Amino acid sequence: MNFIETRGNDGIKAKEISFSEAILSPSASFGGLYVPKELPKLEDNFLQNHLNSSYKELAYDILKAFEIDIDEEEINKALDLYDNFDDASNPCPVVKIEDDLFVHEQYHGPTRALKDMALQPFGSILSSIAKKKKEKYLILAATSGDTGPAALNTFKNKENIQVACLYPSGGTSDVQRLQMVCENGTNLNVIGIKGNFDDAQTALKNLLASKSFKDELEKDGIKLSAANSVNFGRIIFQIIYHFWSYIQLLKQNEITFGEKIYLIVPSGNFGNVLGGFYALNMGVPIEKLLVASNENNILTQWINTGTYDIRGKNLQLTKSPAMDILKSSNIERVIFSICGANRTKELMDSLNEQLYFKMNQNETEKLQEYFSAIESNDEYGVKIIKKYSNKNYIMDPHTATCIKAYEHLKEKNLKTVMYSTAEWTKFSPTVLNALYENNEKYDDKVALENISKECNVKIPNVISELFNSTILHNDVVNKEDIESKIIEFISS
Ligand SMILES: *Cc1c(COP(=O)(O)O)cnc(C)c1O
Repeated sequence: MNFIETRGNDGIKAKEISFSEAILSPSASFGGLYVPKELPKLEDNFLQNHLNSSYKELAYDILKAFEIDIDEEEINKALDLYDNFDDASNPCPVVKIEDDLFVHEQYHGPTRALKDMALQPFGSILSSIAKKKKEKYLILAATSGDTGPAALNTFKNKENIQVACLYPSGGTSDVQRLQMVCENGTNLNVIGIKGNFDDAQTALKNLLASKSFKDELEKDGIKLSAANSVNFGRIIFQIIYHFWSYIQLLKQNEITFGEKIYLIVPSGNFGNVLGGFYALNMGVPIEKLLVASNENNILTQWINTGTYDIRGKNLQLTKSPAMDILKSSNIERVIFSICGANRTKELMDSLNEQLYFKMNQNETEKLQEYFSAIESNDEYGVKIIKKYSNKNYIMDPHTATCIKAYEHLKEKNLKTVMYSTAEWTKFSPTVLNALYENNEKYDDKVALENISKECNVKIPNVISELFNSTILHNDVVNKEDIESKIIEFISS
């Protein structure tokens, strides 16, 4: 299957490219993104036929349906990485917490957050393509805390790949920082930035666009790519687990075949819920996708009004930092599906030039056929964490935003799956504040130990070991010095 461009073609780039090409250079004409030319048609009984499949078998058959240009052996090697999750046969369990509410736990991978679900296999595939083409790549990653550890973990010691990971120094949790600065791999360059996540992201975009930087890399025969979720190589792995949600409810005898369900997704860059949108369009019986936002309510505003307006808006720092966003990249792929390339270009140009766009009534209604949205806030989040801890379920602050959608957005009495995007261990100080109903500043280590005792839950070894690990990456630099720091690393 080939990939086409969300903003149409500029006459310079190819009109259609393969999956592997879309992975290596994810930026399309006019600053657009790549999307599959059409979604694959699955056999009529696809879901029933996979009732007893392992996650890897399900994943394999969905990837096969996309006819991606990756060798079978490489696909299997990538999917084998799910063996490193807590339970290889069920890497993302779906757990009942209310009569009609189930939590799909996406955090059972090596870095304890959603990002592993896609980045683990993606890293393997990307490295295999680079090797096959005999090309070397520098992968840039900017992180607010979860993408960085997951990208470093998947790319460490991979052939033909080097990674430069930029994180805001002082802007992540202790656990997230340690996951990055202690990660061992000769091909990894981890750089703290004196600034916030926006600064890290801006630095990444500037590097991707910098000719002098690319020329410098070229001298060493290195090409440049990025590991953020504009890359369809990540999105494709985010379609699979929405099929898994449905199959798990069938297996648990909670629904009968064909019965519709709701999905609730705590959203930022819209990659997770975009996977659900594609799953719905590939035939999974999903009534609607319910989007949860935090105080940065741009997605809620867009879905409820059709207008995306960031004029005068400032990013607010919340206790669910992975959802702190103003410009959400993957909405573009939904807009393309609904409105086509010409209109997508018009709307995205408007967003870039005037910091807003407005969809018409017809377009907005189409959007609302698929999505509903609601915003939450920190105060509500800690109450929810407390409430569910009393029922013996510990959730992180991102996951807690889903409950707001569960309480307000369901129009029908249908079974609902909400997504838990991070383990409580990644945001333990907030969780402990919720449990104790206070605002004390806790170190992660103290918070982890207290919660573990209080709630009788185990801290995974990969987290507790961090506090005894050696720090291997000490660099913290000014924004102006990032480029030279990376060049220095490349040529060393
Ligand atoms: C990345 C992330 C999200 C947001 O997912 P998107 O695909 O960007 O919408 C939510 N919660 C956590 C914990 C994350 O790491």
